[in-house]
Amino acid sequence: MSQPPLELADIVRCAGSCFVERSRRWITWQHQKVLLAIARCRSAALGGHRDRCSDCGHTAISYNSCGNRHCPRCQANARLRWLQARERELLPTHYVRVVFTLPRELAPNDVDESIP
Ligand SMILES: [Zn+2]
Repeated sequence: MSQPPLELADIVRCAGSCFVERSRRWITWQHQKVLLAIARCRSAALGGHRDRCSDCGHTAISYNSCGNRHCPRCQANARLRWLQARERELLPTHYVRVVFTLPRELAPNDVDESIP
């Protein structure tokens, strides 16, 4: 998988402290913890480990992830698994999305009439 040229972590590292200063009126410590986790995710700040391929012996150093549920890096695999599961539910055909409004006479009786 190729890396995007710019990630949210890059933006947070570059402008995060200015954003926090400008947002002092409403930003909470929880928000700041998320920003800190995103900025530190998969960087030397969280340490790392050496991966070794059992077949060819190739080794590579990987930085640890933050595991924060708001971190797009950490959630990328979960998002990919969810998308793959939805793709397995699709029938082997071409899909077309059609949106239309049913005439009032065909709508169920329990529809809220106050909604225009
Ligand atoms: Zn992360």
